[in-house]
Amino acid sequence: MINVLNKGYVHLVDVMGSDLTPVNAARVSYNKASNALTEKDEKLIQFLATHDHTSPFRHAMVQLEVYAPLMVARQWWKYIVGSSHQEGAQDPFTAWNESSRRYVTESIEFYIPEEDEWRSSPENSKQGSGPILGTPIGKEATKRLLEQIEYGMRNYEWAVENNIATEMARLFNPSAYGLYVRWYWTASLQSVSHFLKQRLDAHAQVEIQAFAKAVKTLVEKEFPVSLKALMSI
Ligand SMILES: Cc1cc2nc3c(=O)[nH]c(=O)nc-3n(C[C@H](O)[C@H](O)[C@H](O)COP(=O)(O)OP(=O)(O)OC[C@H]3O[C@@H](n4cnc5c(N)ncnc54)[C@H](O)[C@@H]3O)c2cc1C
Repeated sequence: MINVLNKGYVHLVDVMGSDLTPVNAARVSYNKASNALTEKDEKLIQFLATHDHTSPFRHAMVQLEVYAPLMVARQWWKYIVGSSHQEGAQDPFTAWNESSRRYVTESIEFYIPEEDEWRSSPENSKQGSGPILGTPIGKEATKRLLEQIEYGMRNYEWAVENNIATEMARLFNPSAYGLYVRWYWTASLQSVSHFLKQRLDAHAQVEIQAFAKAVKTLVEKEFPVSLKALMSI
């Protein structure tokens, strides 16, 4: 498990396959298989990636448990193809499983940037962020966010104490963008590399970049050759 931001993490729950998976998926065309990864196999992996023969990489899968602020989950959820939450009858997995505040009353956690973590607006672009603002604005921002959260939490607790259903009481949950949610993400290696290429990029929001780095660290241990090849194209 790799800790991310103030409370989040990425945990590799399960893995299907290894670097041999795309090799043997490709070699099935010739009714051949490898038992141990050779230099020739590594070259084949690079060839497959470079020439967009991507289907062999879809037999390798990872299952991750992620605990991240809702704003990160919203961005992650957009990775539809090759992920297990795509909708429609053609997807046998259909499985984005997320903790629900309709039922769960476990402690509520928020993403609260430290005083020295607030970033400025970008100078030449509508999205993304610029350099760290520093004090006194950063100090004031953390203070105001904490006040907002405390105010909302008091109302939430009042609602629960007064028997309002948690599925409605959560409307009082303040700062929903920063509310931590937990989910399972099952995805093919091709889908993971697509996610990583976009979300490790400097254009992605810094918070999702932090989660993408953790995903990369966990997945490259399992598929070092394949992930490198997919990320190189
Ligand atoms: C920096 C950044 C800013 C973003 N800003 C916004 C934003 O402001 N608003 C917003 O809504 N989204 C935004 N997104 C999300 C973006 O539009 C994508 O939804 C997201 O990055 C997932 O990528 P994808 O669609 O390629 O993934 P997937 O849906 O997993 O698709 C993977 C690939 O499959 C192929 N594919 C998928 N669907 C089709 C299809 N119907 N026909 C043919 N080929 C298909 C494409 O090659 C696609 O790249 C942003 C993404 C980034 C990285």
